Amino acid sequence: MSRFWNAKTTETKPYTPGEQPSAGVKYIKINTNENPYPPSPKVYEAINNSCNEELRLYPNPEGLEARTAFASANNLDVNQVFVGNGSDEVLAMAFMAFYDNLNPIMILDISYSFYPVYCKRLDVAYNTIPVNNDFTINVDRFLEPSGGVVIANPNAPTSIAICLDDIKSILEAHPNNVVIIDEAYIDFGGESAIPLIAEYENLLVVQTLSKSRSLAGMRIGFAAGNPQLIEGLDRVKNSFNSYTIDRLAIVAAKAALEDTEHFTNNVNKIIKTREYVVDELKSLGFGVLDSKANFIFITHSKFVAKDIFMYLKTKGILVRYFDLPRVSDYLRVTIGTDYEMCIFIEKIKKFIEV
Ligand SMILES: *Cc1c(COP(=O)(O)O)cnc(C)c1O
Repeated sequence: MSRFWNAKTTETKPYTPGEQPSAGVKYIKINTNENPYPPSPKVYEAINNSCNEELRLYPNPEGLEARTAFASANNLDVNQVFVGNGSDEVLAMAFMAFYDNLNPIMILDISYSFYPVYCKRLDVAYNTIPVNNDFTINVDRFLEPSGGVVIANPNAPTSIAICLDDIKSILEAHPNNVVIIDEAYIDFGGESAIPLIAEYENLLVVQTLSKSRSLAGMRIGFAAGNPQLIEGLDRVKNSFNSYTIDRLAIVAAKAALEDTEHFTNNVNKIIKTREYVVDELKSLGFGVLDSKANFIFITHSKFVAKDIFMYLKTKGILVRYFDLPRVSDYLRVTIGTDYEMCIFIEKIKKFIEV
């Protein structure tokens, strides 16, 4: 509390990011869904080549090179693509551009916890739709009238994906409202809704280079949709910061998006490691939701999730525990390298003493 804060700031309950250990403290860090593999070497090269006197100049305000690379990787036109300083920022701008406090949007009760934070801070009315007891989505609820829909696909922290037919039904139920599909984890096994953009003017797909492209540190996110939606996002962006992504981020984005081979290899490695970890955990009596992401959501009927979380921390392993209704029996575990996950499994075995 401070007398200098306005009412809105005073009442804000900010999003809590996963713990980032201080420099020098060595953890197996499988708590914030970062990619365990380095970004493409082409990214380093591009950044090095841009470390020059041109840094005194502002970047291209439209992030044009990054957008062009994203457009060509996804068979889109550049005017169907928006870029921002991480997809969190892109999402916030989308909430500002398309939603209001009169027509409540629909979000899930168990989903990315930034959505309700944006709603409160940006004066967007919302209703929460509960996920089913098995954490799947009750699509019928999303066909009811509303001011818009925001769904993470695959969902976080559950890791469960929904299919394009369900997304189509939701799009068709809200022809005059924007449906945002947050595809932060789509490359790990889900099916992207980007091909539906040609058919549905109300669809905005949001993606990030933070997870599958190993660039969480560069802060690069995209939105893809009808040019009218992109123009709406531009209007918001140009109301407070014309240069949201810097020169180094622009060239890094382009290089990362162009290195398909590096990307595919890393994603495939992570999927393979995920399947191994899932099998191991199941054989140890864990319940593991069907993951299409680079993380898994796990529970054990005999052990308390928070105890496992705390035990792992003492052993130098950070996972994510949410002390929240409906998910407090679960842990979210990011898929790291094979080596990291072997140590994770080993410690888990020690904890449950098998
Ligand atoms: C990680 C994540 C994002 C944000 O990614 P940025 O690093 O801001 O691009 C958005 N949505 C979900 C569901 C995420 O898990």
